[in-house]
Amino acid sequence: MSDHTTAGASTPSGDGASRTDCSEALLRVYEYLDGELGPDECAKIQAHLDECGPCLKEYDLDTTLKSLIKRSCECEQAPEALRMTIMSRISMTVIQVDRG
Ligand SMILES: [Zn+2]
Repeated sequence: MSDHTTAGASTPSGDGASRTDCSEALLRVYEYLDGELGPDECAKIQAHLDECGPCLKEYDLDTTLKSLIKRSCECEQAPEALRMTIMSRISMTVIQVDRG
């Protein structure tokens, strides 16, 4: 371990069977929050949030947003505009995470 190879280029998602990608985690955070994931998937997301600061931040934001939405209107679905905002926020984060 003399020289540290900084993989700046594209790192193909090779063997990461048990590891959850940031993009996957962020995409699933919503299902996670909605309780739509099974115990296995839940554990995966939770584990990722546990060790990934940026994702945890997003998750925290989402939780706050969600409770805000639930407070403002008792319906299950978020208003379209808010939904769009959230989705664009997520894709922005995914891009950022992707580029490192
Ligand atoms: Zn992550």
